[in-house]
Amino acid sequence: MGFLLKIILFGVALYGLWKTFRHWKGLFDRFVGRPEVPPQRPSAPPQAPPNPQPPAAPARKVVVEDTVQCAGCGAYISTAAEKCGHCGRPRP
Ligand SMILES: [Zn+2]
Repeated sequence: MGFLLKIILFGVALYGLWKTFRHWKGLFDRFVGRPEVPPQRPSAPPQAPPNPQPPAAPARKVVVEDTVQCAGCGAYISTAAEKCGHCGRPRP
């Protein structure tokens, strides 16, 4: 009886360890994003994703912002502007 109890307790302990491992592994995978890469190169993947994003966002903002030539004075105004800042003519 005592032996059986030990086996059951051992099984419960193993189950708890497995659940704890799965829990933390799930958290780890959620933060890292790619479960296969960290075992190979632990330092590279966490640094690589954040780097391309910050430079891309400002660059894209500058590139995407379109300008329209004002029909009145010929100045290039942003498409976001409702009217020309030079002559006040409404944007075409
Ligand atoms: Zn103008």
